Amino acid sequence: MIKKVLVANRGEIAVRIMRSCREMGIKTVGVFSEADRSSMHVRYADEAYFIGPSPSAESYLRMDRILEVAKKSGADAIHPGYGFLSENASFSALCQKEGIIFIGPDPYAIETMGDKITARKSMIAANVPVVPGTTEPITDLKKAVEVIKEIGLPVMIKASAGGGGKGMRLVKEESKIIDAVSAARSEAKAAFGDDAVYIEKYIASPHHIEFQILGDKHGNVVHLFERECSVQRRHQKVVEETPSPIMTPEVRAQMGEAAVAAAKAVNYHGAGTIEFIVDDNLNYYFLEMNTRLQVEHPITERVVGVDLVKQQINIANGLPLKFKQEDLKQSGHAIEVRIYAEDSDNNFMPSPGTIKHITEPLGLGVRHDGYAYEGYEIPMYYDPMISKLIVWGETREEAIARLKRALYNYKITGVKTSIPYLHRILEVPAFVEGRYNTHFIEENQQYLQPRRHCSGRCEDVAAITAFFDYLTKLEKLQPAVPSKELGSSWKDFGRKRSILRL
Ligand code: ADP
Repeated sequence: MIKKVLVANRGEIAVRIMRSCREMGIKTVGVFSEADRSSMHVRYADEAYFIGPSPSAESYLRMDRILEVAKKSGADAIHPGYGFLSENASFSALCQKEGIIFIGPDPYAIETMGDKITARKSMIAANVPVVPGTTEPITDLKKAVEVIKEIGLPVMIKASAGGGGKGMRLVKEESKIIDAVSAARSEAKAAFGDDAVYIEKYIASPHHIEFQILGDKHGNVVHLFERECSVQRRHQKVVEETPSPIMTPEVRAQMGEAAVAAAKAVNYHGAGTIEFIVDDNLNYYFLEMNTRLQVEHPITERVVGVDLVKQQINIANGLPLKFKQEDLKQSGHAIEVRIYAEDSDNNFMPSPGTIKHITEPLGLGVRHDGYAYEGYEIPMYYDPMISKLIVWGETREEAIARLKRALYNYKITGVKTSIPYLHRILEVPAFVEGRYNTHFIEENQQYLQPRRHCSGRCEDVAAITAFFDYLTKLEKLQPAVPSKELGSSWKDFGRKRSILRL
C-alpha cells in the first residue's frame, strides 16, 4: 500500500492532492522550482525538494530530477496532478520501470488517447460517436481541399497532438482552406513538435459536456455524470457546472454509457474525463479523453460525494472500486469559477505580483481550492490561476446566488484578478437561464465589458453621490445646519435611504 506520495506539481492542485493524502495517513513529498521556494505546496508537504530553475522545462518537466527525488525521499508513488507530466506516456513508463507507482493510467492508454487521430480510430472501433471527419493525418493540401468539400464547410482543422486550443482553425470559406491548414500545421509543429492535423465537421452552437469516469485495475469502469464546460474564452474553460442545464436523464444515461465504453476500449484505469461536443438537438460526439484529473473535478466531487484523489490512490493500490454505477447519484448543483491573476478589464493581461491582502469566502456550500497567501508573489512562469471557487446549492438558482455572494466576499489586493469579470458573467441572462453554448462569451460582449467609470464599485459611488445630494437638499431646507446635526446626518441618511430610493 502507498505510504508516501511525491506530488510532481505546484500551486492549488499540489495542495489539493496533499490534503487527501493527509486524510489517508499518507506522507507527502513536494518538489519546487526556484520561483516556488516559498509556495504553499512547499510549506504544506511533509518534506520538499528543490528541482531546478523557474522555467518548467528545467524543473516540473524534468522526469530525471523528479524520479531522483522520489527515490531519495523513499516515495513509493508519484501523483502528477494536471498539466506538466500528467499526460506524458514516457513518464508513466519510466515510473513503472523504476518501480514507482504512477498515480494515473498506464502508458498505452495515455498514448492512445493523447493522439487525437488514434483516439478517434479507437472510438469508432468501440462504437462511440465521433465528430464526422477524417481519421488519417492531412499532409497533402490538394487532398485537404477535396476532403473538406466532401465533409462540407464549415470545418475545424485540428492538431492530432493538440491541447489548450493550439493548432486549431475554423474554416468557413473554400478560399481559406489552404491558409488554414498550413497555419494549423505550423502552429502544431511549434507547440507540439508534430504537424499532423485532421479535419472535423464544425458543430454549430456546440456545448462542451464532459463525463468523469473512474476505472479500477479489475476492469470495472463507472461514470460520475457530466460537467457542463461551455463558458469558454479562447477555447479555455472559465465557468463549469454540474448537472448541465441542457441535459435530459435519457441523454445522460446514453452519454454515460458511451463514456464507459470509451474508457474500456483502452483498458483504462484511474480517473479520466471523456469530453463530448453536443449540438442543440443533444446529438453528442466524442471530442477527446483527458487521462488525468481535471481542473474542474471538484464540482463532481461535491455533487456525487466522492473524493476523486482518494479514488485515484485506491485504484493505484490495486483496490477494486467500492461502488457500482447504480450506487452513484447526483445531488444538488455545483458551479466552479477559476480566479486568475489577470486584468480582465485590460485585455486579460497577466497580472503577476505580490498578494497584499486576501480574504477567502467562507460559509455553507463554499469550497475554495487555492494556494495564495498574504505576501505571496505570484510568479510569471506558470499558469496565472490563483484559485478555484466552488459552490454547491440544492438548486441551480441557489448555487448561482451563493456564488455571487461568495465572489462578493472574496477580496484580493496587490494583483488584478478575474473576479469582476466573473461577477459580470453571472448577470448575463443566457447564463442565468442556462441557455448557453461555447459562443456564450462572444455573443454576450455587451454584458461583459468593464464598467469603466466605477471599476466594479458602482454601489459605493451611487451611495456617496446620493449622500451628497441629500446634504445639499438639507442645506437648502436649513441654510445654517449646526455642525452637531450635520454629524448625525449619517444616521438620518441610513434611515432615509429607502425614501431617497437609492
Ligand atoms: P484542445 O484539446 O486543444 O482543448 P478540443 O478538441 O478539446 O481541443 O476542443 C476545444 C474546444 O474547441 C471545444 O470545447 C469546443 O469549444 C471547440 N471545438 C472543438 N472541436 C469542435 C468542432 N468540431 N466543432 C465546433 N467546436 C469545436
